[in-house]
Amino acid sequence: MTAETVQRKEYLAAGSVEEAVAALAAGARPVAGGTDLVVGARHGKAPLPASLVGIHRIGELAEVTTLPDGGLRLGALVSHATIVSHPEVLARWTGLADASAIVGSHATRANGTIGGNVMNGSPAMDTGAPLLCHGAVAVLTGPSGTRRVGLADLWTGPGKLSSSPDELLVAVELPGDQDTGGAGGGKLPGSAYVRLQYRRQMEIAIVGAGAVVTLSGTGPDATVTSARIAITALAPVIHRVAEAEQALVGSSGDEAAARAAGELAAAASRPISDVRGSADYRRAMAGVVTRRAILAAVSRARGAGPAVPASDTTYGS
Ligand SMILES: Cc1cc2nc3c(=O)[nH]c(=O)nc-3n(C[C@H](O)[C@H](O)[C@H](O)COP(=O)(O)OP(=O)(O)OC[C@H]3O[C@@H](n4cnc5c(N)ncnc54)[C@H](O)[C@@H]3O)c2cc1C
Repeated sequence: MTAETVQRKEYLAAGSVEEAVAALAAGARPVAGGTDLVVGARHGKAPLPASLVGIHRIGELAEVTTLPDGGLRLGALVSHATIVSHPEVLARWTGLADASAIVGSHATRANGTIGGNVMNGSPAMDTGAPLLCHGAVAVLTGPSGTRRVGLADLWTGPGKLSSSPDELLVAVELPGDQDTGGAGGGKLPGSAYVRLQYRRQMEIAIVGAGAVVTLSGTGPDATVTSARIAITALAPVIHRVAEAEQALVGSSGDEAAARAAGELAAAASRPISDVRGSADYRRAMAGVVTRRAILAAVSRARGAGPAVPASDTTYGS
């Protein structure tokens, strides 16, 4: 190694949010599980920042707590493994469990955090579509206090965020009092996240879709009263598709309705071509994956399967 390639690194393991925020204000970058930042640096994706602040010792960031409206607050350090095994997430925010269940491998899920997933700002990250559909809010703490930002306002481009570099994500809140996205208000919605994957472990979404659906009743005459649909790896940022949502409302949520909504989601996509798929292939698959996510969400709203993760159980349908 030459002298030019040796760069001095600074590292602090913060013991509190205040200490971490002070380090960020001094120019450090946060590291949680390190599965993006450190693994990416080792693979040559981007060099490690010169100054890092580890947040893994801040106990309060690893807590899952209930909100006054019946929602759930996931501390930024909550791991994908914890999300997948949390009974309330499985029952009420099932789409999020679908996503966390397929992140990387067992090791990735044990170390990777919800905060790191949200703050990498990738248009292909798996928890994004279900979090958007569930109406999740990012809780950011910086030198001048704490503020809440909807995820649609947080993600501004591939790997780009509206938050300031001196703001730490302290939690992701899942509201409980909406007719979709939570369960506090009335009938339990059904939700699902499905991604197109070439293998079941260590994969990145080629295309993904999340759906949250509320039905008027349980019988065969039940109709969709509200719907949220979001698409993954199909645009510079993960986003909801209003046209698809509107088309689904008032329908029975059957195969034909899901297919029509899927086609609208495909029409709203702006995919790129890369080694994992061409733009045309991605656009074609957007319709298929969105249809599967809707049907899985409708089925769950009716009180039936598929099991988590929906990507595996709807595979081949
Ligand atoms: C082998 C492998 C497979 C993977 N598979 C998937 C997959 O299938 N799906 C998927 O979505 N992702 C996948 N990932 C990406 C990664 O594992 C996840 O995004 C994970 O949730 C990142 O969490 P982390 O705690 O490890 O983040 P880190 O690597 O610690 O941080 C990621 C980014 O977020 C920032 N950050 C972290 N925490 C905070 C915070 N609290 N406040 C502000 N900024 C913060 C960091 O500065 C960094 O920019 C994979 C990664 C690997 C290595």
